[in-house]
Amino acid sequence: MPDSRYSILFEPMQIGPVKAKNRFYQVPHCNGGGYRDPSAAAAMRGIKSEGGWGVIFTEQCEMHHSSEITPFIELRLWEDKDIPLLQNMAEKMKAHGALAGIQLAYSGINGPNLYSREVPLAVSAMPIRTFTNDPVQARALDKSDLQDLRRWFVNAAKRSKAAGFDLICLYGAHGFGIFQHFLSRATNQRTDEYGGSLENRSRFINEVVADLRDAVGDTMAITLRVSLDETIGDLGFSNAEVRDFIALNHDLPDLWDLAHGAWEDCSATSRFKEEAAQEDLVRGIRELTDKPVVGVGRFTSPDVMARMIRSGTLDFIGCARPSIADPFLPKKIEEERVEDIRECIGCNICITGDMTMSISRCTQNPTFMEEWRKGWHPEQMNPKGESNTVLVVGAGPAGLEATRALAERGYNVALAEATKTLGGRVTRERTLPGLSAWGRVADYREHQIRQKSNVEIYPDSALDADALLEFGFEHICIATGAKWRRDGVSRQHLVPFAMDAAMPLYTPDDLMEGNKPTGKVIIYDDDHYYMGGVLAELLAQDGCEVTLITPAAYVSEWSVNTLEQHAIHKKLAEMDVQIVLNRGVVEISKDYVVSDCSFTGTKQNFACDAVVLVASRMENNSLYLDLKARTADWTDAGIKSVKIIGDANAPGPIAWATYAGHRYARELDCKDIGDDLPFRREITQLAAL
Ligand code: ADP
Ligand code: SF4
Repeated sequence: MPDSRYSILFEPMQIGPVKAKNRFYQVPHCNGGGYRDPSAAAAMRGIKSEGGWGVIFTEQCEMHHSSEITPFIELRLWEDKDIPLLQNMAEKMKAHGALAGIQLAYSGINGPNLYSREVPLAVSAMPIRTFTNDPVQARALDKSDLQDLRRWFVNAAKRSKAAGFDLICLYGAHGFGIFQHFLSRATNQRTDEYGGSLENRSRFINEVVADLRDAVGDTMAITLRVSLDETIGDLGFSNAEVRDFIALNHDLPDLWDLAHGAWEDCSATSRFKEEAAQEDLVRGIRELTDKPVVGVGRFTSPDVMARMIRSGTLDFIGCARPSIADPFLPKKIEEERVEDIRECIGCNICITGDMTMSISRCTQNPTFMEEWRKGWHPEQMNPKGESNTVLVVGAGPAGLEATRALAERGYNVALAEATKTLGGRVTRERTLPGLSAWGRVADYREHQIRQKSNVEIYPDSALDADALLEFGFEHICIATGAKWRRDGVSRQHLVPFAMDAAMPLYTPDDLMEGNKPTGKVIIYDDDHYYMGGVLAELLAQDGCEVTLITPAAYVSEWSVNTLEQHAIHKKLAEMDVQIVLNRGVVEISKDYVVSDCSFTGTKQNFACDAVVLVASRMENNSLYLDLKARTADWTDAGIKSVKIIGDANAPGPIAWATYAGHRYARELDCKDIGDDLPFRREITQLAAL
């Protein structure tokens, strides 16, 4: 039984003709796998069913071939041949009593149709609006197109029903779904009965919902996902207008699914938005309708969730990222194991899987999207192998996850850490502006391993090869991390470049250790993820006059994939950080740096008092190499294996380190697979009909 404070979260709730067993609602979210990896995506949803979610949705499903968002990989329901793959997904979702939902998307002005080569159809004729500014324009839907589109929605709804889904979500949020394009005066410039007044702009949605009710409404619930505020200026669909729309159409769908403006707003990182950040935009909407309301806000705290329900703000707790970081979040609340929740850190690494069309991964949950590919379960490890003892050296994300997961398997694990605190890079990075939630990577794991009687923790223990050979552990896992380079080697410079020793030089490690420059500071960012931008923020806060120089076209360029790039640039500009794009640094002199244009090579000097080099990182692998050099001594020392993992092996984002730690723990004592592939692949086949 759940704690009485949270029992409200476990009340069954009616949604049109179907009943959810509780209020935990996994809203649609992408996973970078979609139609290319349907078995991996289905298994991932199935794990959430096991984890206790009441409602589980697919990612957006392109419901007709005349509107698709290649290169991004979502689901497709274009013909009957697509049904079996989706049926498999619906079955997995329902296996433990959840309702299965499918999100039907017609992308309109957001679909460039690079794959289908159809002319995009949109509410009004205008250029396609995507992340990639595709050089394609859409033509406006005419009256007969609108009839076609209504029929296509009905066809997709019938196929969804045949696949076994219980709910259909009509996508009209994030600028991605055609229903929003009808509602917004910016994208709806029609002069017929579908444009102009709010009533006219609501017409198409009313028609589609009525069609779907006729076709499948007796057994399926119809939900509508709308943006809470389009955030594109005066013409956009504002929060006030959303409220007018819901009041005008108060009983239109069986449930209102409320999501903030653009995807960047809705899935903002913890660097820019707190938990429940959409509360003000949602509050009061429930009073405008007699239908239930779901909203999101990176909810990880059961107290906040219960407050959302008790205050009458929401009926369902919508989660995407919190359900990725911990698919067992509802179960853990139900079983009064709140302290075991693996809280989302709001880093958006999961979203990078979609943005890079690879496959999603999660910093906190290394098993995400490996449920089918590797058979990994987020809460269950494989049984222990034949050996018994492991020494893990280094308590960063890699070492902590290896320790936690090895202990789960039943090994006796010793964790040695050179410093007094556990957490490695996270201990330092969590002190940087906006990154405090990242500390959860260490906090969750430290809490878990401190509960285990088979883990011994040795802080303040910098180990060398002699010590490792003395201890007599069967397996040694080296997770000693990495440090930022001081010689500028990264992307622009593959070898060190000219630096005058008279110029004070700093690395990110120096700044995180509290050794900071003053005055006029140049940050040379050739790393391109978050660190350069975060340090610019830190130094600007400290009163430095900061110039950030980067050879890239965007500040913190890779953060486009975490949906943060815009917010980072805006924040730095507002803090008066001077941003110099498309320029590198070729020489550091005693009181200035020489910068070169990335295109022409034209030189320009920038005077400064200090330089911060955000280049690449160097593996701390000397311990590993020392031990390898003494392989002949291993047998006498009782050592069966020595492995290096995480940043010490090859530096990367934190998610790469937790994955490496988890993988080490999974594979210890397992059969050597030789040259075989370490994961399952899929070549999808449409049904032979
Ligand atoms: P990762 O991201 O791969 O986990 P981190 O840099 O976050 O790497 O963590 C590595 C940890 O290893 C740091 O906390 C560091 O203090 C610790 N460490 C490095 N060398 C040694 C050593 N020789 N003995 C014990 N701990 C070490
Ligand atoms: Fe949360 Fe980061 Fe995991 Fe995404 S990758 S679910 S934001 S912890």
